[in-house]
Amino acid sequence: MNLQNDLPHTPRGWLKNGNPPGDFTKATRCGAKTRKGTPCLGPAMKNGKCRMHGGKSTGAKTINGKLRAQTANWRHGYYSVKAKRERSKIHKLIAQCNDTLGELFPC
Ligand SMILES: [Zn+2]
Repeated sequence: MNLQNDLPHTPRGWLKNGNPPGDFTKATRCGAKTRKGTPCLGPAMKNGKCRMHGGKSTGAKTINGKLRAQTANWRHGYYSVKAKRERSKIHKLIAQCNDTLGELFPC
């Protein structure tokens, strides 16, 4: 039996998220404004916020992850930048055609 590992508050190695090992009361606090109006006292993660105030995800990092995130809720692409640009070009072309027809055949 390892007595040192059974004692409370003995350093057992580095914790996750960069928090220092040892006394958990010395961990950096979140400080986000709570619904009560007081600063959050939850232990902060590496990004300065606790697990409940935006501490978890900061978005995809890899190119594959970013692509997957972009296409995760892809429905039909009607409002995609490419489709919008294409529709805009077609509308301009139609307007030019109408102008030309108006010049050729004035009423
Ligand atoms: Zn918090």
